Formats: sequence, C-alpha cells, structure tokens
Amino acid sequence: MLVLKNVSKVYGRNKVLNGISFRVDPKEFVCITGPSGAGKSTLLHLMIGAELANAGSVAVDGVDLHVLPPTILQLFRRRIGVVFQDFKLLWERTVAENVAFPLEVAGAPDDVIEKRVKEVLKEMRLTRRAHTMANALSGGEKARTAIARAIVHKPIMLFADEPTGNLDPGQTQMVLDLFKQIHKQGTTIVLATHEVDIVDTLQTRVIRLEDGAIVRDSIGGYRKGKSASQAKEPTHAKHEIFDEEQERKVKITAKNV
Ligand code: ADP
Repeated sequence: MLVLKNVSKVYGRNKVLNGISFRVDPKEFVCITGPSGAGKSTLLHLMIGAELANAGSVAVDGVDLHVLPPTILQLFRRRIGVVFQDFKLLWERTVAENVAFPLEVAGAPDDVIEKRVKEVLKEMRLTRRAHTMANALSGGEKARTAIARAIVHKPIMLFADEPTGNLDPGQTQMVLDLFKQIHKQGTTIVLATHEVDIVDTLQTRVIRLEDGAIVRDSIGGYRKGKSASQAKEPTHAKHEIFDEEQERKVKITAKNV
C-alpha cells in the first residue's frame, strides 16, 4: 500500500504540488490526470522515490521512502517498474537487450534471463522485433518495449508517465489493453495521462490534479466517474522487500530506518 500524506513539492519559487494526500491499495489501477503542468510527472517521481518532497510523507506499507537508507531504497526500486515519458530506452541496443537489462543488473543467470525475456516479448507482442534496434522501432513498439522492460522483473507496482503520448489510436488501444492485462495479473498500476479519453477507456479510479492540488478522486473513468472514498491512515508498520541477489526477505520496520 502506497500512502501520500500532505505532500508538497517546490521548485525554486514554484509550488508544484500542494498538500497531496491519497492512498493506493494493492492491485488498484489508478489514473492520475490533469492538464499539462499540473504536477503529474512530479507526483510520479515522488511516488517512486526518485525525488524528495519538501513536506509530507510518501510511505510504502507504513515505511516512509524519504527516510530509507539508499541501499534499501534501491531494493524498493527493484520491486517496482517504471515507464518513463520519453521511454529512456537504450537506443543503440536491440529490443531483447533492453528488456534483459534490469535482470542483468540484478545478477540473474543467463538461462533465466533468456526464458523470461522471451516470455515478456511474447506477452507484449514484440517477438518479431526481438533483434531490432530500439531506435528503429515504431512509436507503439517503443512503448511496448518500455513496458516489457518495466515488467520483466515482475514488479509489484507499475508506474507509467504518459505512455501513449505520441501514439496513433490503434497503437494507443493496444498499449492500454496491455496495461489492463498486466493489471489483471495482479500488478498495481499508477498511470499518468492528460488525455481524458484514455482515462474513460480504462474506467479506473481517477485522481485529477490541477495546479498541484487534487480536485477530484473518482472511480469509473473521468466523465461519468463517481466519488471515491478518502485515503485512510496506513495500518501496516512493517515492510518486506525481496532481495533477489541475496535471495532473502529484508524486513524494515518504521522505527529502525
Ligand atoms: P505534468 O506532468 O502535469 O505536465 P510536471 O510535474 O511535469 O507536470 O510539472 C509541473 C510544474 O513543475 C511545471 O511548472 C514544471 O515546469 C515544474 N517542474 C517540473 N520539474 C521541474 C524541475 N526539475 N525543476 C523545475 N521545475 C520543474
């Protein structure tokens, strides 16, 4: 469970996020929407521990990301997947090499990597592109490669920032179907998009930001959405992260970090 309490973020004199509070439960699919400049990317960066808030807390199962030592934060980040706005692929590498990368960094054996990469490429309908350079892909294929790389290590949470930004309607639909499929398999998803049509297609919970504040938290899409229940206090004080390299569970309690 991810809980944001009274989070604010300031860049210079620009207050980008102001008093943001909500919670994301396991297996939820949440769309963060709002116009360009509303603070969606900044909010995502805070949720993945890539940026620090100036006030408030961002906690996973009761543990504040801001107080985690860097090594533990790194373990947390290995348990999530992120699709960046510009995909951040390794452009001079093949699709298969891009997707294999997180597993290589985590030290997985070659045969495990080969099997898992094949599986994910099939799931993302990229098998025929396995040996194509990332810079030679279509927009939709780039997006699907970025998603494949983000899920290859079976993350518990997947964050995506405008993943359909420059795609045509056909490619957009394919990417949205893949997110639905990933969600069905049990992954929590947080997707930021300024496109209301996408939010309505997905019919999920929608948090709308305007000028750095939440103006609406509803379920069932945007246009016909109904009000969602307010975020509750965190109930878990302990957090367990699986350290794949050491093959053990790392227990963190709020009081000892
Ligand atoms: P959105 O994703 O909704 O378009 P962003 O989170 O990208 O919004 O940006 C919100 C505001 O924060 C904008 O005014 C933007 O210029 C500012 N901003 C975002 N990142 C930075 C940064 N690293 N430094 C300074 N200002 C930033």
